[in-house]
Amino acid sequence: MSENIYDIIIIGGGCAGLTASVYARRAGKTVLLLENNSFGGQISLSDGVENFPGFMNISGVELSDRLHTQATALGTETVFDTATGIKESGAYKTVTAEYGEYTGRAVIIAGGLRHRKTGLAEEDKFIGKGVSYCAVCDGAFYKNKGVAVLGGGNTALGDAAFLADMCESVTVIHRRSEFRADKSTVLKLKGKSNVNYELDSVLTAINGENSLTSVGVENTVTGEKKEIPVSGLFVAIGQLPQNGAYKDIVELDEYGYIKAGEDCRTSRAGIFAAGDCRTKELRQLVTAAADGAVAATNACSYADGVE
Ligand code: NAP
Repeated sequence: MSENIYDIIIIGGGCAGLTASVYARRAGKTVLLLENNSFGGQISLSDGVENFPGFMNISGVELSDRLHTQATALGTETVFDTATGIKESGAYKTVTAEYGEYTGRAVIIAGGLRHRKTGLAEEDKFIGKGVSYCAVCDGAFYKNKGVAVLGGGNTALGDAAFLADMCESVTVIHRRSEFRADKSTVLKLKGKSNVNYELDSVLTAINGENSLTSVGVENTVTGEKKEIPVSGLFVAIGQLPQNGAYKDIVELDEYGYIKAGEDCRTSRAGIFAAGDCRTKELRQLVTAAADGAVAATNACSYADGVE
């Protein structure tokens, strides 16, 4: 067992994890936060954030910096390490990681998720400059412009319907002719006059200089190739929760999300889940922040032995 025993260990330095650390520190708890990449999580890749209360527009990098600064100024200890699991050791929980083991009374998992990517080489270059994984977050940046949505599931078609109300046109690119999305979602989209469909089609190119200007598609049935001028590409081909390391200690749902309700309690006492990694309806910055507050408050009570 490691020398230091923290009251609370937080896995993940995105909005949920950093908010949790603020609440736990303000409650007087010792807090260690593990992050494996960069603080801020998904927003660190976002060009601008316009839906976080108090900010008309703030760059994702600046908001990430502010969250991190606030957490560390309040005394959160941080370490760059990748959690590989959680073990129970008597009354304590030990987080195993690539470079060490960290022991605490309670653990908050706030590891977020990754969006499945297209696999095209240019994709990363245009993240925040035309490529987005979140229509609710970034749609307003493409008001009165042409955009494309990749995917045929509920997220893609829901995103397309949302975008159709503000964008000049929306092109849905899907690799099959049938949609995976629910009938009601398909019907809702079919009612929009500014939506075009490229079915049986794969994305072949993401083009532009400093920002996205067009995408390439190829029809896999006819072999026809097209270049479609768009300012935005919304990639909605599934999400990949990063919860595999915890599957033996907390219950996951069929998609890999940690089963936890609005109280952020998992199936294991003393382990909480906050933000996009847990089962929830709306995955947004504000709901991640709210989870951070709830998870930390409940983890503090657990660490105090009052529950
Ligand atoms: P999803 O249902 O897994 O759909 C992913 C879509 O992306 C599918 O159409 C799939 O095509 C396509 N796709 C996957 N990999 C691809 C690739 N490499 N290249 C191109 N296309 C690819 O994911 P989701 O839409 O994010 O939804 C996840 C879960 O949340 C689902 O259960 C969904 O019903 C649920 N959800 C519900 C709501 C709602 O109820 N309002 C809203 C959003 C999401 P194929 O169809 O050919 O496999």
